[in-house]
Amino acid sequence: MVTIADEHFDTQKQLLARLRLLIKNKTDILKPRNQVFAVDIVQRYNKVYEIGKEVKRVYVDVNRATVFPELCMHVVFIGAATITVAIRNVARAAMSLKDAGTVSARRPIDTKLEELRTIVQPDIQAFKKRAYEIGSPLCCTFCKRDLTDEKREQVHVDHCGVNTEFRHLVERFRNQENLTTILDIGAESFNTFHSTVAQLQILCAPCNMKKKRSDQV
Ligand SMILES: [Zn+2]
Repeated sequence: MVTIADEHFDTQKQLLARLRLLIKNKTDILKPRNQVFAVDIVQRYNKVYEIGKEVKRVYVDVNRATVFPELCMHVVFIGAATITVAIRNVARAAMSLKDAGTVSARRPIDTKLEELRTIVQPDIQAFKKRAYEIGSPLCCTFCKRDLTDEKREQVHVDHCGVNTEFRHLVERFRNQENLTTILDIGAESFNTFHSTVAQLQILCAPCNMKKKRSDQV
């Protein structure tokens, strides 16, 4: 059995029937309950979670890439291009995941990114320490505010540079190592890679938050 947004399904056939109804027209999926259901289920499909971006919403429209355009699900991400998914594949993926309840609560991709962020922490902390040592004064790169007397946790270390934000580094390493998914990245070897290529800067907490928000549009 699999549970998706509080709805239970015993078989793949039942699940597929629910999805068929959902894409029968363009408007049903706009109902909040259906939207929650759709976002939950598509995230269990590897074509979706391997993109490594948050799913913003799912809508139903014709898939013009097919010979006979028919209605299908379009998955909209924060920070990545929209993709279409076939409900048959979505249903199969959701059914094949064991213990799907916990998977939906913590997607594998999030766990991996957290692992990679944790392993590079010594680099991050060393950069911060150095910045305090040489900073006279220690300033936010964006707003130039003096942070010397700020609380230490208000002084953030941020990945910067063109295509060298943290997510770019993860993707670049995956590419370089010829891995199909970032889930296969070994934390230790990523750490070594990170040490050589990461570009870091000091930001104040408000500037860092602002940057993160604008980055997601
Ligand atoms: Zn600032």
